[in-house]
Amino acid sequence: MKRIGLFGGSFDPPHNAHVAMARLARDHLALDELRLIPAGDPWQKSDRQLAPAADRLAMLRLAFEDEPGIVIDESELKRSGPSYTIDTIEQLQSRPDLAGAQLFLVIGQDQYANLHTWHRWPDILRLATLAVAGREGEAPRPAPQLAAVTHRMVPLPLPPMPVSATAIRSRATEGDHIDEMVPPPVADYIEHTHLYRS
Ligand code: ATP
Repeated sequence: MKRIGLFGGSFDPPHNAHVAMARLARDHLALDELRLIPAGDPWQKSDRQLAPAADRLAMLRLAFEDEPGIVIDESELKRSGPSYTIDTIEQLQSRPDLAGAQLFLVIGQDQYANLHTWHRWPDILRLATLAVAGREGEAPRPAPQLAAVTHRMVPLPLPPMPVSATAIRSRATEGDHIDEMVPPPVADYIEHTHLYRS
């Protein structure tokens, strides 16, 4: 049975914690494939405008170039309307080559704590095993609504990585260096395109 990981995010921009998490998930869960899924319209982050999909995709390609077992899945960028994870899961499950595959949804603690607000979240729990990395010193811990429901969860032993896309964008807006937070080709891309400059 194939083991497939799904790692979604706005990746605005992709950063070192994303790269570390993706590699760790691939290896720790012995995945046949980890699919990176940039969100088209992340409905929970509608308070701000995302960088254009073409830029986020280009940076994702640069961050994960030649990384074995990791592929970029553009399905949420191609779908119109809000990017719901359950739609992506059901779309993948309907593919003949993935019939019966075991699915792992890779998320950080902030998303685990929030998962009970996701569209059709009980169906997500039924169809996928959660693989959760701690974040900012917080170990994987579900909200009470999720704790009350039986679900499969594997902790991912990611060492604490104090990096977020929000912090990177605000540094880049100010013209501060971001070299320690993103892979070098992503830092070059942001510098040359002035992507986050005000
Ligand atoms: P933003 O600051 O814009 O909200 P982000 O840094 O959280 O972005 P996303 O693209 O939203 O990045 O994250 C994709 C996934 O990666 C989410 O499940 C998130 O929890 C996880 N993640 C991101 N950064 C970390 C980190 N430093 N440690 C653990 N998980 C992380």
